[in-house]
Amino acid sequence: MEVLIENFLTAAIVIMLIAFVLFAYYKKHQSETKINKLKIDRAKEYGFYEPVSLHPVINEDICIGSAACVSACPEHDIIGLVNGKGRLINASQCVGHGACFHACPVEAITLVMGTETRGVELPHVSQDYETNIPGIFIAGELGGMGLIKNAVEQGKKAMENIIKKLPSKKKGKYDVIIVGAGPAGISATLTAAQKGLKFLTLEQDNLGGTVFSFPRAKVVMTSPMELPLYGKVKLHETSKSELLGLWQNVLEKNQISINKNEKVLEIIKYEDNFEVVTNQSKYTASSILLSIGRRGSPRKLGVPGEGLEKVSYRLMEPELIKNKNILVVGGGDSAIESALLLADEGNNKVTLSYRSNAFKRAKPKNIEKIETAKALNKISLILESNVKEIKEKEVLIELKNGSQIPLENDLVYIFAGGELPNKFLEKIGIKITKKFGEAVLKH
Ligand SMILES: Cc1cc2nc3c(=O)[nH]c(=O)nc-3n(C[C@H](O)[C@H](O)[C@H](O)COP(=O)(O)OP(=O)(O)OC[C@H]3O[C@@H](n4cnc5c(N)ncnc54)[C@H](O)[C@@H]3O)c2cc1C
Repeated sequence: MEVLIENFLTAAIVIMLIAFVLFAYYKKHQSETKINKLKIDRAKEYGFYEPVSLHPVINEDICIGSAACVSACPEHDIIGLVNGKGRLINASQCVGHGACFHACPVEAITLVMGTETRGVELPHVSQDYETNIPGIFIAGELGGMGLIKNAVEQGKKAMENIIKKLPSKKKGKYDVIIVGAGPAGISATLTAAQKGLKFLTLEQDNLGGTVFSFPRAKVVMTSPMELPLYGKVKLHETSKSELLGLWQNVLEKNQISINKNEKVLEIIKYEDNFEVVTNQSKYTASSILLSIGRRGSPRKLGVPGEGLEKVSYRLMEPELIKNKNILVVGGGDSAIESALLLADEGNNKVTLSYRSNAFKRAKPKNIEKIETAKALNKISLILESNVKEIKEKEVLIELKNGSQIPLENDLVYIFAGGELPNKFLEKIGIKITKKFGEAVLKH
């Protein structure tokens, strides 16, 4: 009898434990769903809900709610669980690096370019990475596919195809000119060196492309990548500086130099070669590899002193900027977010100058934040103003009434928008089409 009671009690305890675990799971599920639904409503209100470029589409019939995609994404709150299924929350913030695609254990994710209503313009590229203009090739994110690993792979493959198609008789000073030194351009450069080509790599900015300008230090590598002249890079999670250091080392070791701060302005096709016009010189080549990414070039103000070292077009590591007089120029989200970040950091004196009389292009949340910061005297706002000149220790700002005021200044950040690569491509003659929700990567 005693044994029977003991067994009964054990069974009851086990059942109660299971019931408790199930109940806790159900409650967690419910509150997760509630929070994520609220986040979705807020994203819709603030205009973050619709994807702008490459993004995941989750097949709810396949999804098992493992949340592997949620934890794999290094950006926050892009995906969340609603009723036990993965759902997009802040889709417009997705940078399309596809960590979720690789993390999903049941292959429920497809990476898609654009949506049915919002198209994304992409250049025509053949399977050999060649554009409609024979001799001009494209590799990396410019062709539509994000991720460092993909860019590296494509840079290598595109260069191998260029080699196959090189004319037997040299037609330009260089066999190939590589435009852009992000992951795709670096990999193409290494392949060109490995294969003994006469090449030149031109970069408008710094080595590393988008990786160099990441606003965060963490870099996620979805799987190992094969870097020419180096071998397998088996970093799963790494830092921006480690990855940039690796690229720098392999280039130095092989005595390869890249022309930094040299922007390609125009590419002209002649009968048997190309002329590449930059902000510094002109070159000729038999073929061209465009690995310029999709982020474009920052628009400049065109005022005296803009070339000074203290002027930047993006904000990196704001936590290191302290005790400075800072001018931020612009009225979009990047300008406002940067001004707010800088004003929050160690004792900076931040002024935001914008040419319009109100912030019309920024997200409502950012407008609210900047107005609060102004009311709390954390930021000075000068609307309807234009920068006239940038000097070593000050900047001259022109007001609406035509008067000019000098401001003490250590650093200037300009966010005046950017020139998208499409205009540059069209000028060269490369065909572009809009993709409305086309799958770029699927299982
Ligand atoms: C915030 C953010 C986080 C990301 N995180 C990750 C991550 O964790 N893991 C991951 O795998 N991917 C990540 N990605 C995606 C990844 O950065 C890109 O897919 C990758 O950098 C694309 O490489 P690319 O070489 O094609 O282009 P880019 O890296 O964009 O490089 C293009 C280069 O071309 C140069 N250029 C452009 N125009 C000209 C011109 N006219 N003349 C000369 N040079 C020119 C640019 O200055 C730039 O250096 C992230 C992207 C963003 C925005």
